Amino acid sequence: MAEKRDYYEVLGVSKTASEEEIKKAYRVLAKKYHPDMNPGDKEAEAKFKEASEAYAILSDEQKRKQYDQFGHAAFEQGGGAGGFDFNSMDFSDIFGDIFGDIFGGGFGGRSSRRNSNQPMQGANVHTSVRITFEQAVFGCEKELELTLKDPCPVCGGSGAKPGTSPVTCTKCNGQGQVVFTQQSLFGMVRNVQTCPECGGTGKVIKEKCTSCYGAGYVSKKKKISVTIPAGIDDGQSVRVRGKGEPGKNGGPRGDLLIEVRVSRHPVFQRDGWDLYSSAPISFARAALGGEVEIDTIDGKILYDVKPGTQTDTRVRFRGKGVPTLRNKDVRGDHFVTLIVQVPEKLTAEQKNLLKAFDESMGGETGRKTDKKIFKKK
Ligand SMILES: [Zn+2]
Ligand SMILES: [Zn+2]
Repeated sequence: MAEKRDYYEVLGVSKTASEEEIKKAYRVLAKKYHPDMNPGDKEAEAKFKEASEAYAILSDEQKRKQYDQFGHAAFEQGGGAGGFDFNSMDFSDIFGDIFGDIFGGGFGGRSSRRNSNQPMQGANVHTSVRITFEQAVFGCEKELELTLKDPCPVCGGSGAKPGTSPVTCTKCNGQGQVVFTQQSLFGMVRNVQTCPECGGTGKVIKEKCTSCYGAGYVSKKKKISVTIPAGIDDGQSVRVRGKGEPGKNGGPRGDLLIEVRVSRHPVFQRDGWDLYSSAPISFARAALGGEVEIDTIDGKILYDVKPGTQTDTRVRFRGKGVPTLRNKDVRGDHFVTLIVQVPEKLTAEQKNLLKAFDESMGGETGRKTDKKIFKKK
């Protein structure tokens, strides 16, 4: 085997990386190189093994200390701090959390290790809602109609026909999980998996409830009123606690997660808490100055244009932007770009006036051969 790479280098973290950084780095690598994701790819397999080994050491405070002091020698047979045998490790303990997150349980993840009789929180329900730009800025109430599960009123959620009750699963003896050993990259590994017979409940229904067909729940259309907070942005989610799927064994309901989609606005663009727009001002107003009406998200306001304002001048209206999510009284700013409009259609009289004006400025339009043409806009 080639020279072993430094564990920190393998995970791409610094020697002073926090526990969280190490976990994060490993999660990325594990997801990328996991054999399930790369069937038959020997190089990915080697990378996965290398990263897993590095993570097994660096995620353990004691082992990390040993490694920092002695390097790889710490874990070689008869090494400085006592041998470390990968083949005897229970990987589901070390990696359970991570693979649970990546693969949604089934790899010794958290969900499959739950005792079947313990109360379990119901699953979260995901949905989305579209709101207008203004609704996002100022917040709103939205009523959603969703099909949600409720415990079956006939069987009370057990799924068994009234008068009967579910019996203990014989495959897992009611544990809801089965332990098996498996030949893996690291040798024989003990793995814990959700019982395939009872699906982790530890109970098997012999006579199903005829109302819910053994599912234990019924689907119902429900109207749910949701408060969308002022300042929410496109793609952010609102969590409504306890409006997800019902829990098991008396556990609480999951949450409802609503992704908010915000429609575009014809006038305003948003960047964080700030708003951007442009406003036309007339040629004369730009030159002479004076009040113009500017559209803001709060409505029209009057702005005093300075005499001699050039096109593309940007004006800032403090506190006219989007309310911050944390405190709706604190708002971003609104930046308005003033666009000087050059008149397109002129009457004969207006043309004459402009020509007269031009001549008074030294005159360009009257000349047939104009050497200063490059000065024209
Ligand atoms: Zn039922
Ligand atoms: Zn079972």
